[in-house]
Amino acid sequence: MEFKRLRRLRQTKALRELFYETRLYSKEFIFPLFIDDGKNVFERMPQLDGIVKVSVDRLHEILDEIKKADIGGVILFGVTSQKDEMGSYATKDDGAVQQAIRKIKEYSKDILVFADVCLCEYTSHGHCGILKGEKIDNDKTIEVLSEIALSYAKAGADIICPSDMMDGRVATIREKLDSHGFVYTPIIPYSAKFASSLYAPFRDVANSRPAFGDRKSYQMPYQNKREALREIEADILEGADAVIIKPALTSLDVISTAKEKFNIPIIAYNVSGEYAMVKSAGKLGLLNEEEVIIEILTAMKRAGADAIITYHALEAAKILNGKEL
Ligand SMILES: [Zn+2]
Repeated sequence: MEFKRLRRLRQTKALRELFYETRLYSKEFIFPLFIDDGKNVFERMPQLDGIVKVSVDRLHEILDEIKKADIGGVILFGVTSQKDEMGSYATKDDGAVQQAIRKIKEYSKDILVFADVCLCEYTSHGHCGILKGEKIDNDKTIEVLSEIALSYAKAGADIICPSDMMDGRVATIREKLDSHGFVYTPIIPYSAKFASSLYAPFRDVANSRPAFGDRKSYQMPYQNKREALREIEADILEGADAVIIKPALTSLDVISTAKEKFNIPIIAYNVSGEYAMVKSAGKLGLLNEEEVIIEILTAMKRAGADAIITYHALEAAKILNGKEL
């Protein structure tokens, strides 16, 4: 009987590696950083297995590590107790994120600074928008978001990443940035952001849990793939330069289809809950953590991600650049 011997190309390590279809590079990783508005803060967060919350005066300590890891960049999230209904801290010129942006760009031109734009870290009610009663006022919110985006762009952010999931935010932010001369500042929105239970560790660290209700009127039902593709399409039409899809592991099908359908770079966001699962299982000795990290990130890339926001960024870079698995 005649049959194919596909195993021929798997016989040696050299042969297998010659034909790898997917390879990871540390430059594709973006590392989340929590910027605290206090002083002398450098805290390894237990909810995120040692991921750092840091104040601007101690930022250089983690920047040294980031530079050594040779990753693509960082994405910034603000942590503050200065909250109000409108999230007005977010637009302060001397806010923690604005200061951090300036400091990182001063430290190195080669570390890309992605600025997450949302209100949940800054509003007293913890929602991603401005409230009218108990509902989000979409159109008012996108005006405020565009002011935050402008403030981050002025501070020197390389890329603006609205994560709120309001309708029309990309177009509104694009208009705002352009009218102030920031025509070359890219907008990379979280286009398909599912309402997921996998964000829990992040919300603890960023102190951004909604005080009432949930985020299901703006984040997407994870049951819907076609709706995710419509969100991506809408953001592209409004001027998105690339798109973010999250969570990553539960959206590999969305990433894969989006890659085929749209000719635009895709960033997968390997979220806090995904990270926590791997770290916890690794600690229990249930799996080989390093191997699993590389396998998971490779799968995201194989699905179609061009870059990955991941809490594993530094350790994955060390694994890739330092030793063979
Ligand atoms: Zn938010």
